[in-house]
Amino acid sequence: MKAESTIERRKTRQVMVGNVPVGGDAPIAVQSMTNTQTSDIEGTVAQIKRLEDVGADLVRVSVPDMEAAEAFGKIRKKVNVPLIADIHFDYKIALRVAELGVDCLRINPGNIGNQDRIRAVVSAARDKNIPIRIGVNAGSLGKDLLRKYKEPCADAMIESALRNIDLLDKEDFQNYKLSMKSSNVFMAVDAYQKIASQIDQPLHLGITEAGGLRSGTVKSAVGLGYLLMQGIGDTIRISLAADPVEEIKVGFDLLKSLNLRSKGINFIACPSCSRQNFDVIDTINELERRVEDIVTPLDVAILGCIVNGPGEAKEADLGLTGANPANLIYTDGKPDHKVTNENLVDHLEAMIRQQVAVKQVLAKGELK
Ligand code: SF4
Repeated sequence: MKAESTIERRKTRQVMVGNVPVGGDAPIAVQSMTNTQTSDIEGTVAQIKRLEDVGADLVRVSVPDMEAAEAFGKIRKKVNVPLIADIHFDYKIALRVAELGVDCLRINPGNIGNQDRIRAVVSAARDKNIPIRIGVNAGSLGKDLLRKYKEPCADAMIESALRNIDLLDKEDFQNYKLSMKSSNVFMAVDAYQKIASQIDQPLHLGITEAGGLRSGTVKSAVGLGYLLMQGIGDTIRISLAADPVEEIKVGFDLLKSLNLRSKGINFIACPSCSRQNFDVIDTINELERRVEDIVTPLDVAILGCIVNGPGEAKEADLGLTGANPANLIYTDGKPDHKVTNENLVDHLEAMIRQQVAVKQVLAKGELK
């Protein structure tokens, strides 16, 4: 019997980023950010399409100037995934992308000047039903807050968030979500926990500048995993100094590990040892690469021998237990047939695709 997720999510009001709901009872959205030059329309579109291919729910694009704003408008027309424009300081850029078509504005009201400018941005956002993401970052707190608190800390982040929220409240604008990012896991967790009890808008989780693929994944999994297990978090970004495609993959793996989202193949694999009857590591690496395109959820257990193989295989949709002279394949928890090491990965891939096809047919039947 599998232990199901017992996470009770924090109740939040829902905002719509394009056609993707964030907050409320919506699935936790996984997002990334392009790292191309936004003015390079072709390159940016290509990267966004790669992110779409691995299942990104949302993509953020930085819009540093008016040239990038014009490019953003063209990019928007060439991709399907909702796009968030990342804007700092210049409210005119926000107005321009709102005109050209944007699904969410990441802009801090406190950074764009007087209340008239804020009003102009809010009014454009309201007219077109565009949510705003307030992004508090421990690395860019106001000088007065740093003077008051001596150094970046969760309380300074809270004060910064509340100031920005207050500016939107003055315009009676509630269609926003909020992030409280720090590269320090403890500070980020503290800030998110504190703000979660003060507002009911959705929270965008992230550990900023987390690091490279391995270290950033670990840091993000610790910080975000801790918050997600408390029900905090409505959309996540794993911030990695790596290909943004990896951010999406890690994001889904994190949510899958907490049973918060199911997408694609959930592999259960042993680390292998001298008991293995086939090369577990090569097999799992090759299989993972080959089935990246699959979005239908399926549990697949790959274990090198009978020590843990049968137990895990019985809980999975498809299982492979290493044995000599032939390995044993399980389907739906039951022993099904034997297979030798020759062409093992081809065989497993074919089995996975077959089971996915069956699941898809069953799902269609249920929808009718
Ligand atoms: S399942 Fe078998 S091969 Fe895999 S680690 Fe355990 S004992 Fe080793």
